[in-house]
Amino acid sequence: MTKKIPEPFRIKMVEPIKQTTKEYRVKALAKAGYNPFLLKSQDVYIDLLTDSGTGAMSDRQWSAMMLGDEAYAGSKSFFKLESTVRKVFDYKYVVPTHQGRGAEHILFTALIDRRKEIKNVTNPVFISNYHFDTTAAHVELTGSKAINVVAEEALDTQTYYPFKGNFDIRRLENTIRENKSDNVVAIILTITCNSVGGQPVSLKNIKETAAIAEKYDIPVVIDSARYAENSFFIKQREEEYKDWSVCEIIRETFKFGDVFTMSAKKDGLVNMGGLCCIKNREDIFKAVQVRCIPFEGFVTYGGLSGRDMEALAIGIKEGTDEEYLRYRIGQVAYLGTKLLDNGIPIQHPAGGHAVFIDAARMLPHIPADRFPAHALANQLYIEGGIRGVEIGSLLLGRDPKTGKQKDSDFELLRLTIPRRVYTNDHMDFIVDTLKELLSRLKDIKGLTFEYEPPILRHFTARLKYID
Ligand SMILES: *Cc1c(COP(=O)(O)O)cnc(C)c1O
Repeated sequence: MTKKIPEPFRIKMVEPIKQTTKEYRVKALAKAGYNPFLLKSQDVYIDLLTDSGTGAMSDRQWSAMMLGDEAYAGSKSFFKLESTVRKVFDYKYVVPTHQGRGAEHILFTALIDRRKEIKNVTNPVFISNYHFDTTAAHVELTGSKAINVVAEEALDTQTYYPFKGNFDIRRLENTIRENKSDNVVAIILTITCNSVGGQPVSLKNIKETAAIAEKYDIPVVIDSARYAENSFFIKQREEEYKDWSVCEIIRETFKFGDVFTMSAKKDGLVNMGGLCCIKNREDIFKAVQVRCIPFEGFVTYGGLSGRDMEALAIGIKEGTDEEYLRYRIGQVAYLGTKLLDNGIPIQHPAGGHAVFIDAARMLPHIPADRFPAHALANQLYIEGGIRGVEIGSLLLGRDPKTGKQKDSDFELLRLTIPRRVYTNDHMDFIVDTLKELLSRLKDIKGLTFEYEPPILRHFTARLKYID
């Protein structure tokens, strides 16, 4: 059942990409300290490092950029963006930010301050199905704790579950009680759940989560980078909503939040941008505005130029187009199914934005602290010029207190598919390259550090092979 869904667009402009030889790539990777993050992008043939800001804009978005109103305050382009957000999500207050982490930065302290005014907060915590890494970092920067309570099914890569991004509702409620509900600053609903494989959350689960939030008087923040992909999965997999339009499902989903943060570099279909929007709480809006000005910029631009806001106003709507979404989710599923058909284990089913290869299963001879998924990433680059990224022990790092490697739930190689960028022939090439590797998995060696940075080490580490 491996079906290609043809691209629902034709190509108006092309960007040449370079095919290099294996010898060239061996040298390039050695120069990069065996860390694909340190490669020059021009030495990469198919770049699957991330789907963040790497998508292609449409002709409508490019032409809208010419209309950008670059006024410092009260830009026409801001009001276009505000009106689109109100239509799509039905949230009253709209604050643009330079990207998703900007929204997290100006929101979280505002929420903590607000909660301290009405509750007895002693040890603030945030609870999520799974905090994205910058989200967890911003929670921790405020001195709060980030707790994940994702459904257990997410940890079992081999079995199909339709909604692996769901909250474990029992654990959610227990965690609130253990930490005292006054201390719970917010429940963060991440859609889709990036860190467990771009897996969706069902509307049933969203409703149950919101009911618990209401019971304990805790605000719900939707971390909504992939709002459209999550809604399309709901349409496909949740019986009750199969006849709803994606736009209706988006509106229904956002009813259950109080605030949303968004990295618009994903489903928003722009190369840079973010949002922090509040449904109706004016007090939160005012607190966010106050923080926006020093950190992001004046409240009607928030770090974006007028032309960026024009492109985003169109991208937010284009991202909800069902023909586009069918192709988008279909392309990732096509890659995932073909890999499975060829005996390559993946987080099953494929996510919305990426396929996650289970490298622990493919390379059982490489222990976690020798980074099997990273070793596989390096071989994939050498074999085909394809750049993926490790999501496992290397990314997770060490316990800051003991200095010991933290135990990772997964050793995954993420192949992230940029939006509207690569064709299905590129997907076939990725599969063929991985097939080439299958006959010599045993020869792949693990790695250790030559240089290990103290924090966020995966970005700039230099590594070497060991036997
Ligand atoms: C990308 C992302 C963010 C952070 O957004 P940036 O635009 O990279 O700052 C936050 N949450 C999720 C779920 C994301 O995927």
